[in-house]
Amino acid sequence: MSDNLYDLLASRFPADPAAPCFLFPDGSRIGYGEVADQAGRLAALLIAKGVAPGDRVAVQAEKSPQAVMLYLAALKAGAVFLPLNTAYTAAEVDYFLADAEPRLFVRDVQALVAEAAACAPLAAAVPRAASDLASIIYTSGTTGRSKGAMLSHGNLAANALALHEIWGFSQSDVLLHALPIFHVHGLFVALHCVFLSGAPMVWLAKFDDRQVLEGLARSTVMMGVPTFYTRLLANPGFTRAQAAHMRLFVSGSAPLLESTFAEFEARTGMRILERYGMSEAAIITSNPLDGARLAGSVGYPLPGVALRVEGGETGVIQIQGPSVFSGYWRMPQKTAEEFTADGFFITGDVGHADPDGRVWISGRAKDLIISGGFNVYPKEIELILDEFEGVAESAVIGVPHPDFGEAVVAVVMGAGDESQLIARTRDRLAAFKAPKRILFVDELPRNAMGKVQKALLRQIHAGLFAG
Ligand code: AMP
Repeated sequence: MSDNLYDLLASRFPADPAAPCFLFPDGSRIGYGEVADQAGRLAALLIAKGVAPGDRVAVQAEKSPQAVMLYLAALKAGAVFLPLNTAYTAAEVDYFLADAEPRLFVRDVQALVAEAAACAPLAAAVPRAASDLASIIYTSGTTGRSKGAMLSHGNLAANALALHEIWGFSQSDVLLHALPIFHVHGLFVALHCVFLSGAPMVWLAKFDDRQVLEGLARSTVMMGVPTFYTRLLANPGFTRAQAAHMRLFVSGSAPLLESTFAEFEARTGMRILERYGMSEAAIITSNPLDGARLAGSVGYPLPGVALRVEGGETGVIQIQGPSVFSGYWRMPQKTAEEFTADGFFITGDVGHADPDGRVWISGRAKDLIISGGFNVYPKEIELILDEFEGVAESAVIGVPHPDFGEAVVAVVMGAGDESQLIARTRDRLAAFKAPKRILFVDELPRNAMGKVQKALLRQIHAGLFAG
């Protein structure tokens, strides 16, 4: 009996080979039969190229259905799939290749598919145990070396089955897929829910307002990062009628602003379902499908996930469960440091849980500011700033300061009067928490998943109080 994730996913593909898997904006489609057939041919080709079970297959390619087929092929061949962000430079890619030592590095997926046409599809998936690696996901690594999170067939299967269940997926769903597929969100969370349902997805190469609005008319579920929602709301063409037959909007990968949640509800009558996850564990918590979805909360731990907060009230979140990775690729020391003695993974996210288990995240531990010896949690200040008129979003950081060690600085997307805003935060907060400076910008720097890059902001403003 094999635990190859491919077998689980393929066992849910519709019996009718013409049943659609990919639906494109131009009305064309690709059926599940072709997906399975191409994945089988590509798997045979990988093996013919010398890819043995456990070998890494690295892929840096534009989003395409063929890249998805290659992912399935890698699973089927028993290889370890290693997706790389298309934005990585040659020097960055060199690091990943040297670290992961893949058997194969694919940049031209279409050429591989053409080559695979001559191969007979691999009949059966290469047997794998639940603990065998299915994928390595390099963390975005805003500080230090990027680490490869090792995810097993069992890790991914457990998370996929749990999400499919709690989010109520069925074959009558149509997922709007506009996320990148080099990241856990678009690759595992979205695709696995679809495959386990044998459902189709409206396939967009990227988030494009017009195509998303059109796609919503054909979909039932959208998974997005918070910037998808702010961009939809910025479009007056996005109306209640357009969202009317959608049953679910999911947000994650970065905090959803409470204002976005509220505005979305006012516009559509629907509450975005926010969930929390990371490369090391896929999805960890989710707001309920049936039940209260609260702005600013990431909901409850998934079935089977144990979640606790270090040191009581607010602290670093630790987790244990079937989807939690086994460690960082070739970094036993780093792995040991990030697990507790009793086997909980130290997420690095700070938050707290209500007595009933509902979780609230207040930010990354490394974004904590220590000013004049006092701990300052950026989120507390951001929430207040975001309420002020003229402030679309704020990012609060610690910047080196000769007296305080670190000074609280707010970088604000929007416009306003600096001293007036500082004075207003002082009315609401202890003086040591109020920003010493507020800097106004048109846009906050974000990564591909819409996360504000605080490490970059710290770097840019490191000299603010120098001299
Ligand atoms: P990544 O491994 O790139 O997916 O990044 C994972 C990190 O994103 C987590 O450790 C959190 O800091 C952050 N994150 C993901 N989802 C949420 C969320 N809903 N709210 C707040 N932070 C989130």
